[in-house]
Amino acid sequence: MSTTERPRILIVGGGYVGLYAARRILKKMRYAEATVTVVDPRSYMTYQPFLPEAAAGSISPRHVVVPLRRVVRGAEVLTGRVTTIDQDRKVATIAPLVGEAYELPFDYLVISMGAVSRTFPIPGLAEQGIGMKGIEEAIGLRNHVLEQLDKADSTTDEEVRRKALTFVFVGGGFAGAETIGEVEDMARDAAKYYTNVSREDMRFVLVDAADKILPEVGPKLGQYGKEHLESRGIEIYLETSMDSCVDGHVVLKNGLEVDSSTIVWTAGVKPNPALARFGLPLGPRGHVDCNEKLQVNGMDYVWAAGDNAQVPDMAAIKAGVPAERAWCPPNAQHALRQAKVLGDNVVSGMRGFPQKEYSHANKGAVAGLGLHKGVAMIVMGKMKIKLKGRLAWYMHRGYHGMAMPTFNRKIRVFADWTLGMFLKREVVSLGAMETPREEFYEAAKPAPAPAAAAPAPEKAKAS
Ligand SMILES: Cc1cc2nc3c(=O)[nH]c(=O)nc-3n(C[C@H](O)[C@H](O)[C@H](O)COP(=O)(O)OP(=O)(O)OC[C@H]3O[C@@H](n4cnc5c(N)ncnc54)[C@H](O)[C@@H]3O)c2cc1C
Repeated sequence: MSTTERPRILIVGGGYVGLYAARRILKKMRYAEATVTVVDPRSYMTYQPFLPEAAAGSISPRHVVVPLRRVVRGAEVLTGRVTTIDQDRKVATIAPLVGEAYELPFDYLVISMGAVSRTFPIPGLAEQGIGMKGIEEAIGLRNHVLEQLDKADSTTDEEVRRKALTFVFVGGGFAGAETIGEVEDMARDAAKYYTNVSREDMRFVLVDAADKILPEVGPKLGQYGKEHLESRGIEIYLETSMDSCVDGHVVLKNGLEVDSSTIVWTAGVKPNPALARFGLPLGPRGHVDCNEKLQVNGMDYVWAAGDNAQVPDMAAIKAGVPAERAWCPPNAQHALRQAKVLGDNVVSGMRGFPQKEYSHANKGAVAGLGLHKGVAMIVMGKMKIKLKGRLAWYMHRGYHGMAMPTFNRKIRVFADWTLGMFLKREVVSLGAMETPREEFYEAAKPAPAPAAAAPAPEKAKAS
């Protein structure tokens, strides 16, 4: 890592906020004013709203991620994890991909570590569940689902087949509803190529503890989304939760029991628990406590934004919502805009200039529920325009296609969609990718030592 005399701006996390903040700082900074260092355990930023489409094979997984080293040129990118921060010494401890952990001094700090899946101590969940926060999970889920169809198509064991063809999703927010919508669509499509598997043989189950799904688009569109998914044969159980899933035996609070080899957990997120070791003031739910200028309260050299920050929603407060209830929701819409204000404020802070306030009124939400299906709520001043079906799906694609970071990735995503219109969706499982050395190992492993020669049978003694 660079050891210059310049002040260092350390950005912890190269996701949505980290990437955009780094780009903004680099753009606004005079040459060599500071060293910008981005630390992330992954070498790429993930555009999470596209994970459901990556899981369904509508977008190539590589096009959903943005390589950090390529897009934040001029910054130092370290692939590793920030494990602790000593605020008195202004030093962060970095655990790199390999080798010893080391200390990295900084002058200014940006906290953009996002969120992790919010789980509960449900028996079997850690062993059986899969989340939907990263591209690895989206690829894993797609391969796994298609592999279940392969298994079901080729077995004569009815129990194995039923378990393979039962898919349980827990959590009906954006991530859960979009993922089940996309994956069901893919499985329905794929079933056309199987002799012994049809859509009717599959069981898709969506469970949520709340009384509605897709709360982000409002009650009416949420209800439409629910009815739409049900019309495709997806069973939806609301106001219930999963009690256990040991060995894939799913037990719901409402009494339903099913055996499933696929349990997808999308029941919300919580701020990254590593924040507790960073010496920062945290809110009641573990978020970094920020003011409306995205500065961490009481620390004028630290800024935070995105899913790991508790930022006052000034637009809501100005509209009369009590301040103790008005926090920016954790979504990409805020993350992107906060990152830009944060970048400006870091540069201003470094130069001793005043800080800008962050205020953004909700512009609505869009959700895709499979090919040509979706819901969209667009807020225009006091008006809320509600769209559903194909039009909403176009809005979803248009909005996220344009929001995808970098021109390069936008082109790749639009190219995937265009190709998908003319060529059929790929429905092959590449599950063996997860163990690429297995076959070679079988071929190359040392031959077993010949079994020790059995002692020659004793000759019958001549009597
Ligand atoms: C499946 C899914 C669908 C979604 N759909 C929508 C949608 O349609 N619309 C919408 O507005 N929002 C959507 N969201 C939410 C949106 O993606 C997030 O709000 C946004 O990504 C938050 O940005 P962030 O920078 O705070 O966190 P992230 O983008 O998650 O970035 C956090 C980064 O921190 C890194 N990190 C973690 N720990 C460490 C550490 N110890 N040290 C260093 N780095 C670390 C991570 O590797 C990651 O790169 C969706 C989310 C998911 C999961």
